[in-house]
Amino acid sequence: MEDEKTFEKLEPIRVKALDDILGIPFKVLDDGFVRVVDYLGSDESIVQAARVSYGKGTKQISQDRGLIRYLLRHRHTTPFEMCEIKLHIRIPMDAWRQWIRHRTANVNEYSTRYSLAIESAQTTNSDQWRMQATDNKQGSSGLFDTELGKEMTEDERFLHEKSREIYNKRVEQGVAREQARKDLPLSTYTEAYWKIDLHNLLHFLELRMEGNAQLEIREYANTIGREIVKRWAPIAWEAFEEYALNSKEFSGFELELISLLANGKGDEAKSKAADYGWISYKDDKLKFNMERWEFENKMNDLEIQIPW
Ligand SMILES: Cc1cc2nc3c(=O)[nH]c(=O)nc-3n(C[C@H](O)[C@H](O)[C@H](O)COP(=O)(O)OP(=O)(O)OC[C@H]3O[C@@H](n4cnc5c(N)ncnc54)[C@H](O)[C@@H]3O)c2cc1C
Repeated sequence: MEDEKTFEKLEPIRVKALDDILGIPFKVLDDGFVRVVDYLGSDESIVQAARVSYGKGTKQISQDRGLIRYLLRHRHTTPFEMCEIKLHIRIPMDAWRQWIRHRTANVNEYSTRYSLAIESAQTTNSDQWRMQATDNKQGSSGLFDTELGKEMTEDERFLHEKSREIYNKRVEQGVAREQARKDLPLSTYTEAYWKIDLHNLLHFLELRMEGNAQLEIREYANTIGREIVKRWAPIAWEAFEEYALNSKEFSGFELELISLLANGKGDEAKSKAADYGWISYKDDKLKFNMERWEFENKMNDLEIQIPW
């Protein structure tokens, strides 16, 4: 005789903390926002999905928090894909251009072929102009003094006004919107609906909350992480903070050096680093080496003295 399986009746999974902020925008930058439009799942769905795939016999590690932390730590990613979230964002086009590189989301963007471009461009206060970093060609480091900043902000205002004026003039003259827009600045705001699962969202946040991501997109990522995901799936968020955001990766060679440093063998570590190609001099000055620089940063964070 065939086994008769019984199924419990299921209730929809809702998260009160997220329901409370549904549709409410979190302000980002001067005129941007992120708000939750809809969602599916929660911490509970991650556990539910994992239990289906583990079947019976996993009772000991199946305490919800322990299980979620185990899954995240060991990169068992599919249960996190059972949770999805749909966000409505308003963001300057230059930051959006970085955002849209994340291919694992579903997107609908405001069309400036169909509609008039949003009449708002991101502005920069006189005390917020960042200087080009010297150690990282992609980054910024330090701020300009406000006197110079005032001039930059004034130039920015002029540029925004002029480009908008020309755009409006073209539209009035009957130029197609798809062509009239071509000289609008990248600071012009756009809007999009963006739907993504929790696994890929955490990947996005790991890359875009990181200190080397551009400040503007980092502000969006921080808002999504700390204001939204933290409310939506607090246990997964806590595990993500622990095992991804606040953790560090070490290469095999880096571990070899750390082991030498921990055993007081600084000279040996230095000589190994030289053999590895990390240490060379030009005019008595230590030449820049990216891998060494990244290692030094990790050592500084750990307050471990570097032997060169
Ligand atoms: C600090 C920083 C600097 C950057 N600088 C540059 C730059 O100078 N120039 C530039 O062009 N980009 C740059 N990028 C963008 C970067 O190269 C990635 O395109 C972006 O971060 C998206 O990452 P992803 O592909 O992992 O994410 P997603 O597109 O969300 O993909 C998530 C994961 O899915 C898998 N995946 C998705 N699509 C495919 C596929 N077609 N084939 C195989 N696997 C797939 C991969 O495992 C991927 O990691 C930068 C990103 C950061 C964070």
